[in-house]
Amino acid sequence: MTKRLTRNMVAAYLQEIGIDYILVPPRAEGETLEDILAEIRTCRRCALCSGRSNVVFGVGNPRARLLFVGEGPGMEEDRQGEPFVGAAGKRLTRWINRIGFAREDVYIANIVKCRPPGNRTPLPEEAAACLPYLRRQIRAIRPKVICTLGGVALNFLLGNNDRITRARGQWRDLDGIPVLPTYHPAYILRNATREHEALADFDLLAERLRSG
Ligand code: SF4
Repeated sequence: MTKRLTRNMVAAYLQEIGIDYILVPPRAEGETLEDILAEIRTCRRCALCSGRSNVVFGVGNPRARLLFVGEGPGMEEDRQGEPFVGAAGKRLTRWINRIGFAREDVYIANIVKCRPPGNRTPLPEEAAACLPYLRRQIRAIRPKVICTLGGVALNFLLGNNDRITRARGQWRDLDGIPVLPTYHPAYILRNATREHEALADFDLLAERLRSG
C-alpha cells in the first residue's frame, strides 16, 4: 500500500538528516466564480436587492473562451436565477450554436445581477455598484473574447456613450481583452430585418476565436 507523504512529513525527514527545509505555502489560487457567488448571494449594495427573487449571477463554462455580457435579468431570469432564459435567450443560444458552440461552452453574465423593476434600464448608480462583480468574474474566467449584447451593456462595461447601431461589429478593448459589441437578441426579436448584422458579428467572434 502506498502511503502519501505530507509536506510536514517531508520537512521533518529532511531536518532529521540535516537539511534545512523551509515550508513554502501552497501557491495562492486566484479568486474563483464560487468565491464571488458566495459573496453576491447576500449583496445589498444597491436598491435592486429589494425586488429580486434570485440573484442572477451568470451561467456557463468557468473557463469559457467566449463571454457574453447582457444588461440585466428580466422577469423569467429573476424567477429562474439564470440569464437569457426567455425568448431572447433562445435566440442567443441559436446564434451561439450557429458558430459551433453549445451554450454550456460559453459564459453568460449581465451588468446587474438583480432585476430592475418593470425591466427598466439599470440606473448608472446600480450599474456602478454591480460592475465590480462582473470585473471579478472576467478576471476569474479570463475569456479570450467578450461580446456585449445591446447598447446598455456596451456603454456600462466600456464606460462610453456609443450607439449600438454604429458600434456593433467594431472591435474594442477591455484591459487587453478584445470586446465585440452586437445587438441584444431581444432587439432582434422586434427588428428581424437586422438579424443578418448580428449574425455577421457572430461570424467575427468565431473568426477571432479560431485565430488563436
Ligand atoms: S444589482 Fe448587483 S450590486 Fe445591486 S444588489 Fe444586486 S448584486 Fe448587489
